[in-house]
Amino acid sequence: MSRVTEILDALEGQYHNEQCPPELGHPEPLDGLILTILSQNTNDINRDRAFANLKAQYPSWPDIITAGPAKLEDAIRTAGLAHTKAGRIIAVLERVYSDFGEYSIRGLAAHGREYIREYLRALPGVGAKTVACTLLFDFKLPAFPVDTHITRISRRTGIAGEKSSPEEISRMLEAVVPESRCLGGHVNMIAHGRAVCHPQKPECEGCVLSEICGYRRNNDA
Ligand code: SF4
Repeated sequence: MSRVTEILDALEGQYHNEQCPPELGHPEPLDGLILTILSQNTNDINRDRAFANLKAQYPSWPDIITAGPAKLEDAIRTAGLAHTKAGRIIAVLERVYSDFGEYSIRGLAAHGREYIREYLRALPGVGAKTVACTLLFDFKLPAFPVDTHITRISRRTGIAGEKSSPEEISRMLEAVVPESRCLGGHVNMIAHGRAVCHPQKPECEGCVLSEICGYRRNNDA
């Protein structure tokens, strides 16, 4: 059994069914993409507040284009970096409208994962993690977004090198994790990073990964 599989199994025993949200996606994947842009450099609570406020004030994407970047900036201020994010959102909406003649990227679903990945990655201000989140949550396609928690756990346990980038870790996990386990694995690793494998003072005593974790072994030695 590979180390990655051992980690997924152990975390599933600890978290699955309790912390895996039943539905994280959106019927219109563009909603998920914009939500993920809002999530950059902030926490889920502030992201969700900003998105809810945005939708309350401007229920449809054309409303936002009409309102303009300054109003959009006001609506999403709780997510932080409002000026940058407003600019990215407007640019994405304009590109999508130009490509599809509507504010929707649902049509991409007819293409394969890599086509969708390339399209999303070419959008202004959209990085690898945002693409992976949109693929996984909104297109229901196998992808493994890697955030700061997953990066830390991957490096500490030794399934990734100490200097591996989040993008490299994401590619590695996508290559070895069975498609059906990407969502659960992603959610469970984040849960573990928040609850146990803290950036400072990880709670290695009693951690379900302690037997297979390189960090634990090195710090016991
Ligand atoms: S043993 Fe410690 S370092 Fe390793 S995953 Fe668990 S909490 Fe993190």
